[in-house]
Amino acid sequence: MCGVFGIFGHPEAANMAYLGLHALQHRGQESAGIVSSDGERLFGHRAMGRVQSGFSPTDLATLPGDRAIGHVRYSTAGGSHLKNAQPLGVDYARGSLAVAHNGNLTNHEALRDRLEARGSIYQTASDTESIVHLIAMSKKEELRDRIAEALTQVEGAYSLLFLTERELIAVRDPRAIRPLCLGEMASGSGVTHVVASESTAFDLIGARKVRDVAPGEMLIISADGVRSEFPFAQEPRKLCIFEHVYFARPDSTIQGVSVYEVRKAFGRRLAAEQPVEPGDDLVVIPVPDSGVPAAIGFADRARAPFEMGLIRSHYVGRTFIEPQQSIRHFGVRLKLNPNRAVIEGKRVVVIDDSIVRGTTSRKIVKMIRDAGAREVHVRISSPPTRWPCYYGIDTPTRSELIASSHSVDEISSYLTADSVGYLSLEGLVESVRSLEARAGDASGARPSAESYCHACFSGSYPIPFTPAAPNRQLRMVSG
Ligand code: AMP
Repeated sequence: MCGVFGIFGHPEAANMAYLGLHALQHRGQESAGIVSSDGERLFGHRAMGRVQSGFSPTDLATLPGDRAIGHVRYSTAGGSHLKNAQPLGVDYARGSLAVAHNGNLTNHEALRDRLEARGSIYQTASDTESIVHLIAMSKKEELRDRIAEALTQVEGAYSLLFLTERELIAVRDPRAIRPLCLGEMASGSGVTHVVASESTAFDLIGARKVRDVAPGEMLIISADGVRSEFPFAQEPRKLCIFEHVYFARPDSTIQGVSVYEVRKAFGRRLAAEQPVEPGDDLVVIPVPDSGVPAAIGFADRARAPFEMGLIRSHYVGRTFIEPQQSIRHFGVRLKLNPNRAVIEGKRVVVIDDSIVRGTTSRKIVKMIRDAGAREVHVRISSPPTRWPCYYGIDTPTRSELIASSHSVDEISSYLTADSVGYLSLEGLVESVRSLEARAGDASGARPSAESYCHACFSGSYPIPFTPAAPNRQLRMVSG
């Protein structure tokens, strides 16, 4: 997974991009990068790791100009190397170009084969580079036409930012799988335009969200302001529902809806669909942080107290000190510790957003029981995760997803829980759809049950994945 941020018309563009990326850090921690422009040249800095460690004030001082784009990366396959960090920057016959990408191209292997056969030499292992080659090869005059022509040849999910000396161009794929939004802020006598994966990036820099970028929309931001074009054939919208389940920050809004409110709605619906016997000894606890809003919703509907039964350490990094004698559940305990005061003697409902491999949930159930719970009921605010994502979410292979080969009862036995209950697919989709319909998209588009990608739960993939040719190693894709 990745996050992108762009800004045009601000005297401290690189500093603002740094702050924007900081707010998007949850979308990727492997590398971070910023490319700025002073209108004549592009300047870039990329580093491995988090934004805060990769950018010193001296690094930021090497990024002049009033426009910039930035990227935080979480590669969804392959290794992690600085040469694959974004924004990618190139000099080609028409000038300089930088690009930052969130999403995965599903036909990147086939594209790369075709382009390499024609003589393209790749600098990176990233799928995003194919877009750059296609732009460079285009015979069109204007950059926006070259980008449009390139993107009609790619398939998959993309929220993209391009920066040249003159323009910042933002594009969201026709199915709008990954989020992207437009904002603005006053700066001196003018207006600064900002674009970001999530609106939470605007809050930090004092910008206001104007709207979500529409499916298939291209925004051309220049000294003349913002121009909107729709260069692609229309497709049915397929917003990634997992952004609402887990990925996006709860203080963001997507298509006019608060992610926090959506998660609470998941929790309320989950309580109705998968109730636990009421009683004075019942307590609802979240797996922090991802399970918190859903647990609030669950507790509200179940009329049971919400308590912080697991306390999260915010200082978990890598640990090099491991005790000689093994401590039970040491790895998980570093991050989460049971709060005996609210658990002991209780029937506990523990809420998380998803189960992937099941290893964390199993340890959590044991920890809660060890802390004196009489019963442990696991409730998950999404359906069983059974299928890998090809559109930009990091998921393990199908065989590693516990729900792809185990029934809910079998998962319950594996977790050693008293019961396990998942939110239904219908409950998931309907919770988001109804809130979105109530909020009313600025474009007037009404979402339907078909407006979301839920392939990770349903196996219903809106775009086919073109697998790598036999004997060919799968290359890193952008995420
Ligand atoms: P597991 O032990 O593999 O079942 O991990 C489950 C936990 O991973 C849940 O608490 C989720 O919040 C979290 N999770 C779900 N999807 C992802 C993802 N794509 N990347 C990182 N963590 C995730």
